[in-house]
Amino acid sequence: YYNENSILFLDGQWVKASEAKVDLFSQTMHYGNGAFEGIRSYAGAAGPNVFKAKEHFERLKYSAEKMGIKISQSVDELVKVSYELLDRNGLSNAYIRPMVYLGANMKLLSCGEVHVMMAAWDWPPYLGDEALKVMISSVERPNPKSIPVDAKVTGNYTNSIMASNEAKRNGYDEALLLDSEGYVAEGSGQNFFFVKDDVIYTPPLGNILPGITRATIIEYAMELGYPVVEKLFKPEEMKGAEVAFFTGTATEVASIKSIDDMEFAADWKETVAYDLFLMYRQRVSNAELSEFTLV
Ligand code: PMP
Repeated sequence: YYNENSILFLDGQWVKASEAKVDLFSQTMHYGNGAFEGIRSYAGAAGPNVFKAKEHFERLKYSAEKMGIKISQSVDELVKVSYELLDRNGLSNAYIRPMVYLGANMKLLSCGEVHVMMAAWDWPPYLGDEALKVMISSVERPNPKSIPVDAKVTGNYTNSIMASNEAKRNGYDEALLLDSEGYVAEGSGQNFFFVKDDVIYTPPLGNILPGITRATIIEYAMELGYPVVEKLFKPEEMKGAEVAFFTGTATEVASIKSIDDMEFAADWKETVAYDLFLMYRQRVSNAELSEFTLV
């Protein structure tokens, strides 16, 4: 994630990643009370393009605020920092990780110093580019009344880690988590879609992280004229589906070969999902070049 030349942003300063320090009494370290984002930038004709930068930093602020943590920087300031970060590290195709964390504080209360850091590194698609063998996890997504599942709060990710550990242990590539009522929710760090009879289905907002890639893919599907249905469904309703896929910033668009013993027969390249994958790949690097000049 970093080498001796990597520079990161920390509370308004630019520091060497190898020299940056964190307090061992940080509340985020002990209790998981912090927020983060996962953003990608892509090389474009006029320089790097931080894809959906504003949406990501808006979500970062939302996630922190949901935990009672206030960030002093505006969304526009954070967007600027992300471009400067790329520039200082000589990166254009990169993964950007902003994180909001708290200083020393052992109370079970959001109080104390608020820190903002941002780092970037070169990162290939998170789940690789081979079709995935997916397991329906015995680990459920948390009830949204107990934990803010619609926010990228650091502590939420113990749930994701439990699910993907279980999937790996059982010889799968990734987990698909159900909500507490048994409806399909999402992957450990991805949203989920399947296609049946040319209709694209995805779980509605409520028990999932509102993925920025998910929203983008829904928009592209509608642009291509494919019907998209956001509804709750049980795993058995996917029987007979042509194809299924995950979406996420780190993952991009990843095809799924099977879910438990359910195999998807269609040739990936012949599916709607592949059209969306290609459209995503093409648009990320040049769709929003104006975004930077706006701030
Ligand atoms: N669900 C979870 C639990 C995630 O961590 C992520 C990654 N941020 C996603 C879905 C996909 O969200 P996005 O497309 O905004 O990266």
